[in-house]
Amino acid sequence: MTNIIYGSEVSKQIKEEIKEEISKITKRLPKLCVILVGNNPASVSYVKGKEKACKEVGMLSEIIILEDTISEEELIEKVKELNNDSSIDGILVQMPLPRHINENRVIENIDPSKDVDGLHPYNIAKLYLKEDGLVPCTPLGIIELLKRSNIEISGKNAVVIGRSKLVGNPVSKLLLDENATVTICHSRTNNLAKVCSNADILVVAIGREKFVTKEFVKDNAVVIDVGINRNSEGKLVGDVDFEDVKDKTSYITPVPKGVGPMTIAMLLSNTYKAYLKRES
Ligand code: NAP
Repeated sequence: MTNIIYGSEVSKQIKEEIKEEISKITKRLPKLCVILVGNNPASVSYVKGKEKACKEVGMLSEIIILEDTISEEELIEKVKELNNDSSIDGILVQMPLPRHINENRVIENIDPSKDVDGLHPYNIAKLYLKEDGLVPCTPLGIIELLKRSNIEISGKNAVVIGRSKLVGNPVSKLLLDENATVTICHSRTNNLAKVCSNADILVVAIGREKFVTKEFVKDNAVVIDVGINRNSEGKLVGDVDFEDVKDKTSYITPVPKGVGPMTIAMLLSNTYKAYLKRES
């Protein structure tokens, strides 16, 4: 039988837990600061979602909107100002940035202890050394979703399609740390469908509408669809052809209401974690 894993429901539960913790705080409240450069409609909507989520759990938030003509140096100066602001626990620079700005240079200037996106080289190293740091939100959300759905990871064959620094790479490392046997696939992988059809857990993070069809899926596999694509009608669709695949799976995440809401819940969780560390 197929079970649909609604990240939207799991994320509500996580937000309730964070809200409960924050309601007990009698001193300074945790605060997330988001920098938005320009007015890309998708970025504006993501930032609004993050602000709303902070409000829901009683966390403070600040959105700093900067002109897309800002120079790299000026943006880095702003980041440094936030690093030095003791009221701020988490700093997130909404990506993508305008072309004239080097995203890596900006990320490298965020204080790693406030890097709630987990993309600073220090936090990436912490992840690969299996030490406690801030882990990127989407991969963290995927593992949380599996665990809270009581899906066994240890000993399973996990196949990840995608090797980005934001999703594919870190989620592969987290699955390995949970003792899965991990295969990472990408655009040069030969016989992709065959490799995937060996997966007990298949994580798909490509960015191509309905790319994964039933030939990719083993009977009773767990399928996690990370993709967010807009189809020709403007609707959000995943990288997995949900209708084609669902009857073969034991568990599958939908798009929307799957991995997406977990990303925001993990951003709150990372900000709260950064706060606790700074307060200790
Ligand atoms: P990305 O940086 O563009 O990486 C895509 C990866 O997919 C690359 O490793 C690429 O391989 C691989 N790929 C592309 N075409 C392929 C093909 N035909 N066969 C096999 N592999 C292929 O994207 P990303 O940032 O990881 O994001 C992936 C998707 O997840 C996007 O739809 C994005 O919008 C979505 N996303 C969702 C959330 C969420 O919260 N739900 C968060 C982040 C991202 P190469 O390395 O060989 O090029």
